[in-house]
Amino acid sequence: MQQIKNYINGQLVAPKAGKYIDNYNPATGEVYSHIPDSDEQDVEQAVQGALAAFPAWASTSAAKRGQLLMRIADLIDKYQDRLAEAESVDNGKPLKLAKAVDIPRASSNMRFYGTAIQHFASEAHYMEGTEAINYTVRHPHGVAGCISPWNLPLYLFTWKIAPALAAGNCVVAKPSEVTPMTASLLSELCMEAGLPAGVLNIVHGYGYKVGAAIVAHPNVPVLSFTGGTNTGRSIAATAAPMFKKLSLELGGKNPNIIFADCDFNNALHTSIQSSFANQGQICLCGSRIFIERPLYEQFKQAFVDKVQNVTVGDPMEDGTKMGAVVSEQHMQKVLSYIELARQEGGSILTGGQQVHLSGRCAKGWFIAPTVIEGLSPECRTNTEEIFGPVVTLTPFDTDEEVIQYANCTDYGLSATIWTKDLSRAHRVAHQVRSGIVWINTWLLRDLRTPFGGMKNSGVGREGGFEALRFFTEPQNICVKL
Ligand code: NDP
Repeated sequence: MQQIKNYINGQLVAPKAGKYIDNYNPATGEVYSHIPDSDEQDVEQAVQGALAAFPAWASTSAAKRGQLLMRIADLIDKYQDRLAEAESVDNGKPLKLAKAVDIPRASSNMRFYGTAIQHFASEAHYMEGTEAINYTVRHPHGVAGCISPWNLPLYLFTWKIAPALAAGNCVVAKPSEVTPMTASLLSELCMEAGLPAGVLNIVHGYGYKVGAAIVAHPNVPVLSFTGGTNTGRSIAATAAPMFKKLSLELGGKNPNIIFADCDFNNALHTSIQSSFANQGQICLCGSRIFIERPLYEQFKQAFVDKVQNVTVGDPMEDGTKMGAVVSEQHMQKVLSYIELARQEGGSILTGGQQVHLSGRCAKGWFIAPTVIEGLSPECRTNTEEIFGPVVTLTPFDTDEEVIQYANCTDYGLSATIWTKDLSRAHRVAHQVRSGIVWINTWLLRDLRTPFGGMKNSGVGREGGFEALRFFTEPQNICVKL
């Protein structure tokens, strides 16, 4: 059985303690590889490797660093089929989705920051009267800690390490232990691309061991984390007294607002995607669908009909629209929320249970796409993140009412608005407390834009030059002329 290795100081190495964790294929429920159960000794070794590599990497020209990132991007493209298959097996997502979204986006991330760093200029301020000039130097911090989740494994992993490396930091990164495979393949691509030893280090293992050791390490002054809000809170509790720079991309409970004057077919078709893509395990999925009352019954009927035609199946098969959820534990969590919705008085319009497939996937973890109505916007089902293929439908009458519904959770990551009245769309968008609002579309991403959440959905912004600013420390130099 395949045994994944850590990537430390340019080498693939076994964990020092020699312990491993079982890695499951969620579509079959079977163990198919072993992951290092690393600990603080491995993190120490990785941080030392990164510290040793830092002076040379920080003084490498931006153009050369960019070229290396673009070489890695080219290798991701070259091996895209292998990476997509690995992502699908590891995560349970349809192979088609991994090919169309996850892997192309991973190479775009590397290419984007490989070029962005070459256009990243710092500011100068001339002081009239006193005849002085200030200029800003942006220094890399040193060793950056990057911790990513399991839902979009290589996509989100590269979204962090690309700007960190481009800006001249060395990195100690931890992918989710639930989906380590593509990060492990990336180690090999970095070696093939000729990335200098120690510049990127990938340590596999549990969050409470490896993640916590990276967060607490005194030589890791900057941390970029994507994951759940509770984990973000515990990371902030460790990092804040150490005055570490923190970027936190956390959970969401996103509203999908459908006005009666929308382009019906477009809203309907896209709402199927925004509800169930990646089995509903995207932080940007719109799990609370609010429909203007005159359209409610028509939308509900058409939506439920379409959901009943979403094929849940073997992720490797072409016709599969929804694959397995990521783990048995996660499946139980999602099912427990469906049970909670029943207790809170919700009616299950379709779905609501585990799906048992036959053949190779007989022991896999599949959930039927689930649509629920009849719940109050303030109940737990409607305010806590479920992170699975479960959505609720709620009617509304006025703009003020739907804005209040949209804002009545502690989260504020994204929102979607469907209407042909653009004045209303802008008015509502400005009042919804979400870091990103899509109008008549969903998941359309321009990598130059600031990405992140309001309220408990995060701290700081990723994307574009925001990430390069985060991964550098500005220093003002003032010269009297
Ligand atoms: P978790 O918070 O459980 O884990 C995220 C990462 O942190 C994993 O690598 C995990 O390791 C690690 N980790 C866990 N505990 C600690 C700790 N104490 N110290 C340091 N690291 C730790 O999130 P999930 O992996 O379950 O991902 C789902 C969550 O991610 C959802 O809430 C989702 O909304 C959010 N998310 C947010 C996005 C955004 O951009 N805002 C994008 C995508 C997802 P391990 O796997 O071993 O536990």
